[in-house]
Amino acid sequence: MHFETRAVHTGVNKDTAYNSCITPIYPSSTFYWDDLNTNKGFDYTRSGNPTRQAMEENIASLEGGIDCKATCTGMAAITAAMHLFQPGDHIIAGNDIYGGTYRLFADVLTGMGLKFSFVRMGNPDNVRNALTPQTKAIWIETPSNPLLNLVEIAAVTEIAKHHGCITIADNTFLSPYLQRPFEHGVDIIIHSTTKYLNGHSDVVGGCVVTRDEEYKERVAYLVNALGLACSPFDAWLVLRGVKTLGPRMEAHQRGAMALAHMLDEHPAVERVYYPGLESHPDHELAKRQQSGFGAMLSFDVAGGRSAAERVFEKVTLFALAESLGGVESLIEYPDTMSHASMSEAARLEAGITEKTIRVSVGIEHPDDLIADMRRGLDS
Ligand SMILES: *Cc1c(COP(=O)(O)O)cnc(C)c1O
Repeated sequence: MHFETRAVHTGVNKDTAYNSCITPIYPSSTFYWDDLNTNKGFDYTRSGNPTRQAMEENIASLEGGIDCKATCTGMAAITAAMHLFQPGDHIIAGNDIYGGTYRLFADVLTGMGLKFSFVRMGNPDNVRNALTPQTKAIWIETPSNPLLNLVEIAAVTEIAKHHGCITIADNTFLSPYLQRPFEHGVDIIIHSTTKYLNGHSDVVGGCVVTRDEEYKERVAYLVNALGLACSPFDAWLVLRGVKTLGPRMEAHQRGAMALAHMLDEHPAVERVYYPGLESHPDHELAKRQQSGFGAMLSFDVAGGRSAAERVFEKVTLFALAESLGGVESLIEYPDTMSHASMSEAARLEAGITEKTIRVSVGIEHPDDLIADMRRGLDS
């Protein structure tokens, strides 16, 4: 069945007592046993919960995996995945990954003995050159945040296979509707479900999706052992949100493309970062690797911080807020907001300056978004 159909019809029809169309929320922390040998598949909600499992089935299906484990945040999903490794193991990641991931890697996990190299992953040679005998994994995030640089997933998984290490992809920015990393050879996918999968800015959550038995078992073990699973209520909201993922992504992209073209022509904008524009250096790769260009974009505003501040003041449809992937448009300033946890040197190295503004384009009518942004920029 097609993606949109699976999104609606997976993880439902769970209620044999009353035939409710919608999977119920089971907030119960514990489930009783019929006798010492028999329960109905659940015993304690940290380890497993019917509502959470229904949502996990849905996302596993959308990514084309065999299993999904839902966590309480995207960072919890990354934390679970990183516990596959041991002190001394080396992991290669992009130098412009999500700020929170960078902090976890460069600070917390480095302090616990894992080793990281951050490379410009746009050129796969940089990955090859960073390999060491201790390299156990390559962390792929594409498109990157906030500058929308792409990584050629198949080229990196090829290098990993050759070296005998695994690849983990953070697929948050595009969602499985627009990019399916398993089809390019990735071993494990993580998501912040906070973003497009839930899509309504009312949950913080994450998940780890696996495609083989070994990692399926290990990830399930880790999420339970570390206590990272998401609540039944959050799982229920994500299951509700994910059903409209396809139509939402279409609407998000329509607005993003229209806005990118307007920004591209506006005299107050020095540069637009959106893979849907033909001028974007990774435009051809995006066409090959993705089934759409997504709805995140960034731009450099002439005049730096004070000009950016005027834009934030004047726009009314773009709320000044971190996060992304919700139905409402958001605008933010990576320098002091989403990427504040990076050092200034690391930010500059990644190309994030005081001119950079990031936009998460919602599903409002593109004409209204364009008119609003134009007001902001004309000021
Ligand atoms: C938001 C985000 C995360 C972290 O997810 P949380 O739900 O905020 O913990 C990780 N990776 C990417 C690409 C994100 O956008």
